[in-house]
Amino acid sequence: MPHVLIINAVVSLIMGAALVLVWRRDRTQTFTRYIGWANLMQLLVPMGYWLTAQTHVAMVVWGFVMLPLAAACYTTLLTLGAAHLAGQPAPPRAGWLIFLLLALTDAAALALGGLQAAQICVGTINTLLGVLCAYWILKERRATLAEKLVGPLLIALGLIQFIYVVYQDDGAALLATLGALLRVTLGLVLLHAALERGGRELRKQRYRFAGMAERSLQGIMITLGGTQIVYANPACLALFGVQNLEELKVVTFSRAIPKAERDHARHIVKAIARGQQNDASLETLRQRVDGSPVWLRFHYFRTEWDGAPAVQVLISDETARYQASQALAHQASHDELTGLPNRVALIKSLKRRCSGDEQDASFVLVLLNLDRFKLFNEAHGHSMGDAVLNTIAQALRATMDPSCEVMRMAGDEFALVSAPNCSGETAVEMVSALRQLFSKPFQVAGQDMFLDVSMGIALYPDSARDSESLLRAVNAALQVAKRTPGTSYRLAEKAFERRSSNALVQEQALRLGIERAEIYLTYQPKVDAHTGRLVSFEALARWDSPGVGPVSPVDFIPIAERIGLIRALGTGLLKQACQQIAAWQAEYGYCVPVAVNVSPLQMLDPEYPTLVANVLHASGIDACWLTLEITESSAVQDMDQTVAQVAELRSMGVDVAMDDFGTGFSSLNMLRRLRLNTVKIDKGLVDPLPAPDAIAVVRAICQLATALHMHVVAEGVETQAQADAARDAGCTELQGFLYSRPLLPKDVGPWLHQALALD
Ligand code: C2E
Ligand code: MG
Ligand code: MG
Repeated sequence: MPHVLIINAVVSLIMGAALVLVWRRDRTQTFTRYIGWANLMQLLVPMGYWLTAQTHVAMVVWGFVMLPLAAACYTTLLTLGAAHLAGQPAPPRAGWLIFLLLALTDAAALALGGLQAAQICVGTINTLLGVLCAYWILKERRATLAEKLVGPLLIALGLIQFIYVVYQDDGAALLATLGALLRVTLGLVLLHAALERGGRELRKQRYRFAGMAERSLQGIMITLGGTQIVYANPACLALFGVQNLEELKVVTFSRAIPKAERDHARHIVKAIARGQQNDASLETLRQRVDGSPVWLRFHYFRTEWDGAPAVQVLISDETARYQASQALAHQASHDELTGLPNRVALIKSLKRRCSGDEQDASFVLVLLNLDRFKLFNEAHGHSMGDAVLNTIAQALRATMDPSCEVMRMAGDEFALVSAPNCSGETAVEMVSALRQLFSKPFQVAGQDMFLDVSMGIALYPDSARDSESLLRAVNAALQVAKRTPGTSYRLAEKAFERRSSNALVQEQALRLGIERAEIYLTYQPKVDAHTGRLVSFEALARWDSPGVGPVSPVDFIPIAERIGLIRALGTGLLKQACQQIAAWQAEYGYCVPVAVNVSPLQMLDPEYPTLVANVLHASGIDACWLTLEITESSAVQDMDQTVAQVAELRSMGVDVAMDDFGTGFSSLNMLRRLRLNTVKIDKGLVDPLPAPDAIAVVRAICQLATALHMHVVAEGVETQAQADAARDAGCTELQGFLYSRPLLPKDVGPWLHQALALD
């Protein structure tokens, strides 16, 4: 093959490959693809000529097949490319049609007239198509000068085919040389056109992006290298309240932003810029230039800016959503009425304090419940009740140390949690501050309101080591405190926690215990204050719970009350006591009265006196041997009914005593109205005897009781000094460990014998 044909082939190869590569980089430049492939197809034409010049028949045949196909393919692709360049893209079907027509025409010319005829045919078709393309491109308004050259070049490429027609093989070298030159020129023109079009498209896109970014309501910012802001749209500037990029830089990299947060944002930007991460989001609180807070959501992703890797940041103002979620969170953790944190907040605070880093910091928890607030609400109305709760909430907040958390649990219950690292002393201070607060009236709607509270106090970690146990312990302490009328408090013990946590188990055990009659009575003597002689017994319940051991009535009586078994238990114990009296009478032919304790809940039953009458009748004993000890709280719950019940019992011949006098309301008027036989002074008043002021109190009660024709029993006498003082103050009977502990029936014999002997 002559050199010139090889050069022609190389030119076709280089220009074709260059144009196809341009298309691969920018797929919008379809014309480069077609014209590139046309050049590559052109490679086959010199090869076809070379084959036809061979002596081997098969090679000659191949040459004759290849030539029309290659020529048709070249012309088709060239036409399609020029059509794209002119903005008149032809559908693929049209391409196939042109190819078929050209191939048939070329083949017919070759078959009928030989190479020369085929050359005339190809030259004519190419020239005509060149003219058509030149017309299309010139018609295209946006076509550049370079693009307009494409048409004439195509025409020239068509015309040079006639060189071969005129000069036969002698003109082949000239044809190849001119063809190569024209194709190089065409290739360069097309490359230039492609570059220009690409640049124009880029500018158009940038303009479009800039328009979108400028009008976007979302903040857009482009940064280079993490710290250099190169672009910010107006929405971004408005988000920070700044005018230009310089001010924006000051706000976004402000020292007011915590260092850790600044570093975190910088780390994200760098990782994205380096391609280590595709995108990232961040929500944070920032400040506008005027200092107002703004909650922003940043979304970072990788982009390119002037050829350099950059990070685009989309910024949206989430302040409204943030405030709404904050408001919701506040609502969930705060009480609507008082604005104080609620139970949810308390549990959260306790959990935090009892675990993690703060685990070792001791603190005090006080649970505070208003006494008889339900009655207060019923008497004054709920709006007044709400006003009282609000006043108390404010008073608690004002009284307590600012570091102390004040919360409203529910209804009339408040919780106080001291600052960390507080000991028992803090508890004492808190309780005395609270007692002082509730000792004075609260001013609500122009009225003075006196309110009592019961308080349960727990110390972390002494009372319990986890939040749930601590709450149980303080709750149990509160329940015990509530049993004492007036403002009172109780410190949680580990035992309370255990008791409370085992409440269910204990309830079940007690039900079983009552059913199996495991609860029995012991009898504690009451003696004459002057002679020391046995006057009567008090029946005190005992329960040896299987597997647990002795359980105090202080524990199981409230459980029985809570689960509604106190009536059954009380009736059972009353029967036991009456049967015991009958048994002693039968055994010793003698007895002393026995006092049975009655729960306030039993007294609420209007049928109680009838029940007592039935039990007495069933056991066959006289009513004079039975005394019933009631408590002040019975009377407080329903005074009129208690007065009626006491009167009915007394009319039956049963004595009624007021137990634990001096601990609760201790209303003297109540004593007068109830018309009891006996009043029992609580151990709490007997303990400080013989202190002069304690003597004065006991004496005052005795004087009043004597005036009302009542006996007075001093309870819990443990020392001779107490006994002497109580007797001198006017107590007629004494009961306590000084004389005897509660005794089992079998141990009562000596006492009864002695009393019988003295009688
Ligand atoms: P209470 O009726 O005031 O009974 C007196 C309590 O003081 C008894 O405790 C008795 O053991 C205790 N005591 C007597 N003398 C002394 C003393 O010198 N020093 C001390 N430290 N304590 C003394 P107990 O038996 O534990 O009963 C406690 C409370 O449980 C009773 O107080 C009563 O309210 C209630 N209770 C006991 N048995 C019954 C019952 O059968 N029915 C009802 N409803 N309640 C009962
Ligand atoms: Mg009693
Ligand atoms: Mg008592």
